[in-house]
Amino acid sequence: MIELWEIDLQCGLSIKLLGYVMAGVLITSAAIGVVRVQNERGPLSELIDKAGQSVANATASGAASLVAGYDYGNLEILAANVARQANVIRVIISNQSGRVMTQAAGVEAGTYRRFESPVVFDGQTIGGATVDVSTDALENALSDLYWRVFIDQIIFGAILGLIVYFFTARGIVSPIRKLTMAMEEAVDKGDSFIARDLEVKSGDEIGRLVSVFNTLGKSLASYHRQLHSKIDLANQELRDKNLQLGGRTLELENALDLLSTTATTDWLTELPNRRKFDETLSRMFHQSERFAEEITLVLFDIDHFKLINDSHGHGAGDEVLRDIGTLLRLHVRKSDQPARLGGDEFGIVLYHTNSAQAELFVEKFMEGVRAHAFDYDGFRLNIGLSVGIAQYDVSMSAPQELYYAADKALYQAKHGGRNRYSVYSGATRVQERLTS
Ligand code: GH3
Ligand code: MG
Repeated sequence: MIELWEIDLQCGLSIKLLGYVMAGVLITSAAIGVVRVQNERGPLSELIDKAGQSVANATASGAASLVAGYDYGNLEILAANVARQANVIRVIISNQSGRVMTQAAGVEAGTYRRFESPVVFDGQTIGGATVDVSTDALENALSDLYWRVFIDQIIFGAILGLIVYFFTARGIVSPIRKLTMAMEEAVDKGDSFIARDLEVKSGDEIGRLVSVFNTLGKSLASYHRQLHSKIDLANQELRDKNLQLGGRTLELENALDLLSTTATTDWLTELPNRRKFDETLSRMFHQSERFAEEITLVLFDIDHFKLINDSHGHGAGDEVLRDIGTLLRLHVRKSDQPARLGGDEFGIVLYHTNSAQAELFVEKFMEGVRAHAFDYDGFRLNIGLSVGIAQYDVSMSAPQELYYAADKALYQAKHGGRNRYSVYSGATRVQERLTS
């Protein structure tokens, strides 16, 4: 279905203009026709009135002696003669009491006017003459006049209208159409629009509109250029910033990695620290609790470590701690988690390992420590370890319980004379092994 606005668009301004001009011409022509006819009607009516009245007067005066003498024969002849005159429809002659004495019919017609005149004899009114005169001729003449005037006006108006239309179309419609097309082009092309000047043909409002459009087009193109160069610049800055940010992000990630490693690593031995150890112990404890996997915790402490510090200085002590760390790393499996818990104390969570297997590991490790040459400043240092071993069992409900069990075993090893390991087996019993 075609909408109203579509018709509006299709018709365009020039068709509308032509329509308005033609409607104006028609209305004006009809109005002028009506006015001219009304102007002509007055004098013509007067002429008819005068002619009709004189016919009635003549009839009345001719009939006076005939009415007085009751001469019906001549009265008839008189009426017939008057009725034969042009445009006379009817002639009636009546006596004083209004009785029709004679009447005659003339032409047949539609519209007419009635004229009356008294029949006077010897100064006395003795009757009346009535003459009906047709006004058809008048109406026909006026109608002809109306159409002639109308047609004249139509021709004149159409010529005038076409002249007005031609100049209006040239001076207004055509520039507006060009402007509209140029604006549509600007809207369609958007960024790729290249401003080009429309010709300014006049200094009137339309000419000014065209020159304002030309100025606007240039400003628009210049804004586009500025905008694009700003966008390009902003894009470039954004790319640079992204690059910088990319570098920063990498730096930041590295720093975060370092921070996280530092937070969980012992600086001296480079083994995981107590914090990491607690996390791992907790995770493995819950895992073994859930999947019934065997894990065993080993804690050990260097015997008389204070003596080393005191006799050879802290540097020697540090060296020993570092060596122990290295040895520990060499002895554990990948899945096990060794850590320095603080001071001269270390711990290892042995995964998928029961206490018997842990004993084997501890024996081997202690063997490794014994075999290692702890040389410092020309001195050979004797290093002994006290070790506590505890395996997870279902009676334990928290990681700390396993830790306390291993610590108890370690305490037992210390009190049993050092340089040995003890195995925790139940809350009351700790088995002790001397390894040297
Ligand atoms: P025990 O056989 O009962 O363990 O005796 P010990 O002398 O080893 O006593 P303890 O384990 O309580 O002493 C640990 C010492 O370790 C105390 C402290 O001065 C020392 N220490 C702690 N951290 C460091 C460290 O980072 N470097 C050095 N060189 N010494 C440390
Ligand atoms: Mg110690």
